[in-house]
Amino acid sequence: MGDLSLFLEDHHEMMRDMVREFAEAEIAPVAAQYDESEDFPWDNGKKMSEIGLFGIPFEEEYGGADMDLLAAVIAVEELARVDASHSIMVGAHTSLACTPIHRWGTEEQKRRFLKPLASGQVLGGFGLTEPGSGSDSGAMRTSAVKKGDRWILNGQKTWITHGGVGEIFMVGAVTSPEKGSRGITAFLMTKESCELEEAKRVGFGHSDDLEPMPGFTVGKKLRKLGWNASDTRELIFEDVEVPEENVLGEIDRGFPVFLDTLDGGRVGIAAHAIGIAQGALEQTIRYTGERKQFNKKIHEFQGVQFMLAEAQTRIHAARVMTYHAARLRMDGKPHKQEAAMAKYFASEAAMDTTIMAVQLHGGYGYSREYPVERMMRDAKITEIGEGTTEILKIVISREMLKAYGEVT
Ligand SMILES: Cc1cc2nc3c(=O)[nH]c(=O)nc-3n(C[C@H](O)[C@H](O)[C@H](O)COP(=O)(O)OP(=O)(O)OC[C@H]3O[C@@H](n4cnc5c(N)ncnc54)[C@H](O)[C@@H]3O)c2cc1C
Repeated sequence: MGDLSLFLEDHHEMMRDMVREFAEAEIAPVAAQYDESEDFPWDNGKKMSEIGLFGIPFEEEYGGADMDLLAAVIAVEELARVDASHSIMVGAHTSLACTPIHRWGTEEQKRRFLKPLASGQVLGGFGLTEPGSGSDSGAMRTSAVKKGDRWILNGQKTWITHGGVGEIFMVGAVTSPEKGSRGITAFLMTKESCELEEAKRVGFGHSDDLEPMPGFTVGKKLRKLGWNASDTRELIFEDVEVPEENVLGEIDRGFPVFLDTLDGGRVGIAAHAIGIAQGALEQTIRYTGERKQFNKKIHEFQGVQFMLAEAQTRIHAARVMTYHAARLRMDGKPHKQEAAMAKYFASEAAMDTTIMAVQLHGGYGYSREYPVERMMRDAKITEIGEGTTEILKIVISREMLKAYGEVT
């Protein structure tokens, strides 16, 4: 790892040491097993909640650890260095479920919803994507119609992280169809975990204080290329009654809430990507130091050293970009372009580094005996989730052209 001390304070280094130790001890021994079984890691979720990983940047009064976004970024990075299905648990929960409530919620909403989330009592999620609208999320179809003091929601979301195991969700629905993306509202919605027995067994992931909303159900677990132990499902809304006080932000002003949440989420996905790349690089340094061909350790060949040097440089650059974007967001400064650039750069670095890692493990890299094939599969989603690379390039160029006065 290159020197990043200009960005970091003592508590960031402490967070890195603590999470690295935890991930090596508790996650590394079981990561391959969870990838294979595709089960949600309930026992480790409970342990992560006990050490305060589900509310790192939030104040203690809301159940958080009273640190900051950069500390959360480092925690995600260190979990992803060992296993990305575990890191996404903290990443999605923190940036997609807790953060919008923290930034946009009323005091009452923070007490009702942020507290159980940030204290690690229950898991949360974010419902934006629909079967017919992904990159063009403003074209969502889920509808919300006012009836007395309630909103009636109908529709469907897909690809929702924690869709099954989560209990609190921020969901987007169309409240003024004639206004397009300016007619979308964000709602806070509750349901029970669909793995209630497991949640009760470990004592994490369920709260009796939250009222499940009738008509809010989930589809079956979606099977994926990677992030196999992460729970991804459809959310289904059939005449779900949502009380007025569950509107997050203002009516018809939900889309900016989702976009702001994605800006922060992109910093988080960049952290996943960096962690995966770092883990794959370290595995490769170790392997190429043990494996000999032509009477030499493989990393004594200059061609291999060039590959390792390239990966190290890209990971370092991705860290600088990501920590910088995190600092801008922490300081309340504009960071849309910086977050998009960090995710774009870091996710490509993760994909290229993990492909290199498999290559430098030779045939063993292609086997399930070594973690690099899992890391390669897990890296791919960082180029897709929370804005594909193509969408990020649109965001980056739009911000750039705006700065040059070429577009408004
Ligand atoms: C494992 C996983 C977890 C996820 N978790 C969540 C979650 O918790 N909450 C949530 O709301 N969503 C979630 N998603 C959804 C994710 O954000 C979307 O998959 C992503 O935004 C892309 O949308 P899409 O899949 O509909 O692809 P599409 O939008 O259909 O895109 C398909 C291809 O077309 C390209 N494309 C689209 N428009 C353009 C354009 N204008 N110019 C150039 N190329 C373009 C895209 O880049 C992509 O390559 C998750 C997805 C996965 C796979």
